[in-house]
Amino acid sequence: MKFERYGIGIAKGMALTFKHLFRPPITVQYPEEKLVVSRRIRGNELVWYPDRCTGCATCAKSCPQGNIEIVTHVGDENNYVVDKFEVDTGRCMFCGLCVESCPYEALAMGLSYERAQYRRGQLVLSKEELRLSDVRQPSGYARPKIEATLPEQSLLVNWDREKGGQKLSLVPLSKKRGRGV
Ligand code: SF4
Ligand code: SF4
Repeated sequence: MKFERYGIGIAKGMALTFKHLFRPPITVQYPEEKLVVSRRIRGNELVWYPDRCTGCATCAKSCPQGNIEIVTHVGDENNYVVDKFEVDTGRCMFCGLCVESCPYEALAMGLSYERAQYRRGQLVLSKEELRLSDVRQPSGYARPKIEATLPEQSLLVNWDREKGGQKLSLVPLSKKRGRGV
């Protein structure tokens, strides 16, 4: 029985283990620490811009899940006035087809990925809840102009802890940034 055959492999494995034992951790202490997400993330929310929406319902027709419910009436200027714009995010698969199909850029995917709820009903979002706000910001998915305003994604591989590290918390986005499309 040769020593090389059975001993070297164990020694190599142990050396690798020891090397990693003394290496500083590169994990993130979520949820206290958060990475800046991809600019084109399809987060688990949508953002709706009522001032751009014409009530054409193209988004609703594009949704393979039938998640978007729109009710309109004809306004004074022979236009559609949106009475109801509701999205059931509980059934949404965040494919982004509704966003891609909107001819007026009135719908965008959101940046957030923490929209879990305890009740299914809370996942049905009304037009008031879908509006842009400090906590509901659009991502750059299918929206290059928004993408250009968003911070660069932070990756653990680029995080230099010895130099003080990269700022890991989500950069707060201003309302102005979301509207400046
Ligand atoms: S496709 Fe766009 S403009 Fe048409 S109803 Fe949907 S969000 Fe509004
Ligand atoms: S993201 Fe996809 S599944 Fe969700 S509402 Fe839009 S089209 Fe429907």
